[in-house]
Amino acid sequence: MEARDHDMAPQDYHADMHIRDIMQRDGRTISFEFFPPATDAAAAELETRLGQFASLSPSFVSVTYGAGGSTRLRTHDLVIRLQNLGTLDPVPHLTCVSHEQAEIDDILRRYADHGISNLLALRGDAPADGGGPSAFRYAADLVSHIVAFNGSGDHPDARGFGIGVAGFPEGHPETPNQLIHMDHLKAKVDAGADWITTQLFADNSHFIDWQERCELAGITIPIVAGIMPITSLATMKRMADLAAGMTFPARLQRRLMRFRDDAPSIEQVGIQWAVEQCNDLLDGGVAGIHFYTLNRSDATQRIFEALGAESSADLY
Ligand code: FAD
Repeated sequence: MEARDHDMAPQDYHADMHIRDIMQRDGRTISFEFFPPATDAAAAELETRLGQFASLSPSFVSVTYGAGGSTRLRTHDLVIRLQNLGTLDPVPHLTCVSHEQAEIDDILRRYADHGISNLLALRGDAPADGGGPSAFRYAADLVSHIVAFNGSGDHPDARGFGIGVAGFPEGHPETPNQLIHMDHLKAKVDAGADWITTQLFADNSHFIDWQERCELAGITIPIVAGIMPITSLATMKRMADLAAGMTFPARLQRRLMRFRDDAPSIEQVGIQWAVEQCNDLLDGGVAGIHFYTLNRSDATQRIFEALGAESSADLY
């Protein structure tokens, strides 16, 4: 990896750049994921943590997008709030399930008007009530549509949005056939994706093997690894729900079980495990690490400390 300018002011990290520009400049990205807070109290809590997150100078922060109407507006509000703050570069997630084309175009235009540079294009999952009609069936269709929007000249950057898509090192429950699922990932890449962010995983060997399979399938765009530390046994169960099919290695479970009801020690084991994953991925030349923060900065800060990093630039 090339030498980097570690003295860069935080605002220089967040110039209007595509993720692939940032990767080219820094060699890799370090990013955080937020979800839009559902209550005023949760919003106030996140607000108090934004400074701590910004002090770690991530390459970008992504903001999830929910299935329901009010959640969707909250994503937009948080993205614009972050954009206006100017210390964290927001990358909105956009799911196409239950959206008409006109709604998607509205969102794209609004983000373009606010100078948002990148989007994570997803299909999402239909809400329990089935949701409304969807103009785009799969994420690949949404990617194609964003590429067409990019050609319209409606974005202040002549190239339009940089586009990310989701990858699933341990597979996706709807497509148990991994060869076919890889074809579907390739379709998203061929449609115009610039980078892939993965589902969270706790066993690096799955990621490394899947990365090789992507390469064999002709997928050469950067792959950003999704990491989420276990901070409690409840978090682990939530992770298993969030990332269906995710493996929790026996080695990890044994370490956790030794501490049973000792919550601080369980958190310590979870953070230590994530640190080992990160060290291993960094040594292996990973294109990026994306931390699923659940809007909490403490675990992310502890991981940085254990990695010996004062800010993201120390991990490039
Ligand atoms: P797709 O790529 O469309 O794939 C969905 C399924 O359809 C897969 O099984 C795929 O193999 C299959 N498929 C694709 N193309 C075809 C085809 N042509 N024919 C038949 N089958 C096909 N969800 C949210 O609601 N909001 C978020 O903000 C959000 N953020 C996420 C961020 C990341 C990094 C990840 C990994 C997931 C995120 N998700 C989010 C969850 C995601 O939306 C779901 O996992 C969803 O089921 C898959 O989305 P996708 O974009 O991968 O869809």
